[in-house]
Amino acid sequence: MRGLAKGLAYTLKNMTKEKVTYNYPDQPLEMPDRFRGIQKFYPEKCIVCNQCVAICPTDCISLTGKAHPDPNKKGKIIETYDINFEICILCDLCTEVCPTEAIIMTNNFELAEFSRDELFKNLEWLDENDTNLRKENKV
Ligand code: SF4
Ligand code: SF4
Repeated sequence: MRGLAKGLAYTLKNMTKEKVTYNYPDQPLEMPDRFRGIQKFYPEKCIVCNQCVAICPTDCISLTGKAHPDPNKKGKIIETYDINFEICILCDLCTEVCPTEAIIMTNNFELAEFSRDELFKNLEWLDENDTNLRKENKV
């Protein structure tokens, strides 16, 4: 009887405390500011300099570019941009080296898929990956 009362007292005491658990996945998890999650890509900012490809330690980025359609403008525009998340280690080097911040890390960590092929993410997917941006990258 004493044990039951002790248990009930402990339960009642903790019922009023602030919850430390989340209602995941209905409620998104708050990640630390420097969390390195799946990248977002801004095609309009990319200057096709290839620095992200060159620095990637796992060779998981591939891209193609083409000459700017406006003959009065120099440089290239991005055509395709793919990341293979089977081997990306989310090291952050591609975003650190990008001179225009065309690629940034996000707080999104949800990448579970039923097929390995679905872990190849293309330009459109990376462009739309903006639901969980870091605070510092929100405009
Ligand atoms: S986070 Fe690292 S491993 Fe992933 S694409 Fe960027 S440089 Fe490559
Ligand atoms: S480093 Fe940035 S600007 Fe250069 S190709 Fe990669 S994403 Fe584009």
